[in-house]
Amino acid sequence: MRILVTGGAGFIGSEFVRQWLGSDPAARITVFDKLTYSGVEENLASVARHSGYRFVRGDVCDVDVVDQVVAGHDAIVHFAAESHVDRSIEGAGPFVRTNVVGTQVLLDAARRHRVGRFLHVSTDEVYGSIDEGSWTEEWPLAPNSPYSASKSAADLLALAYHRTHGMDVVVTRCSNNYGPHQFPEKLIPLFITNLIDGKTIPLYGDGRNIRDWLHVSDHCRGIELALHEGRPGEVYNIGGGTEVSNHKLTGLLLDAVGAEWDRVEYVADRKGHDLRYSLDDGKIREQLGYAPQVPFVEGLAATVAWYRENRSWWAPLKARTELG
Ligand code: NAD
Repeated sequence: MRILVTGGAGFIGSEFVRQWLGSDPAARITVFDKLTYSGVEENLASVARHSGYRFVRGDVCDVDVVDQVVAGHDAIVHFAAESHVDRSIEGAGPFVRTNVVGTQVLLDAARRHRVGRFLHVSTDEVYGSIDEGSWTEEWPLAPNSPYSASKSAADLLALAYHRTHGMDVVVTRCSNNYGPHQFPEKLIPLFITNLIDGKTIPLYGDGRNIRDWLHVSDHCRGIELALHEGRPGEVYNIGGGTEVSNHKLTGLLLDAVGAEWDRVEYVADRKGHDLRYSLDDGKIREQLGYAPQVPFVEGLAATVAWYRENRSWWAPLKARTELG
């Protein structure tokens, strides 16, 4: 089986590729990535010598290049996206282009080349915000940010290609990921790296927003299960089972780095900030045997340690994107 992984130089895609190639000497993976500001080819350095690994730089919106690269693959795992909500509030254009048009271009190429399975990596943010209870896969989509609206469009397009064209599509919707190699604009790595550098950390509003945190390695195990065992046309929620308010998370990160609350700068809330995300992932647990393995406290401590030990990875990225 030869797999095409789009966005494989990013945070989650690179974990998926490292996990898969690291455990299977016979695996064959092509990474297709534009290397935007958040794509880091060095994330794949540990597997670059694997005989089944190939890297192609390109844009998922480029019809000709996508057509060439998709040929000969048995499955596609589609991670490539503009992924940062704050950037989508500044400007939605790149989000609609990459997340919506890019997914359509990829789906059309997969259809032309009769690729066996198309796994679309979506997000729990497509469901909107929920005050009580948890979303099952049947919940209506009600996205609130331009990012989540563009991901919803892509998610529904993928499912529509299953219903309309009979393509073998599986969609996964996961909660907030954390772990090593996450671009330092996202909350956890931004806070850790600012704290390491003795800077303040910007906490939105009063910090009462609640997120379910999922270790990136657990997410990738869930994707692999859905890729192998998922049923065509089905959606699978992948959760971490750890709901924490941003305020509490901030306290955990301050403790982990040995800093005090005077380092917290309360900033104006994000526009349209979703209050609470909560996933019911009973379906993938019951049907495919998924269970997250990394306890949040341990995963967070290991993540803090990784950023402490890998300044040479994140400092240039922060400098380049004016986060530093
Ligand atoms: P990321 O920003 O770290 O990586 C995105 C990757 O896609 C980068 O390598 C980038 O170069 C590549 N890319 C962007 N535009 C491209 C284009 N036009 N053509 C080809 N490649 C392009 O993002 P991530 O956090 O790894 O997220 C991966 C996927 O998971 C995304 O689809 C995202 O919506 C989804 N997701 C992420 C989270 C999370 O917590 N990070 C949660 C739910 C869902």
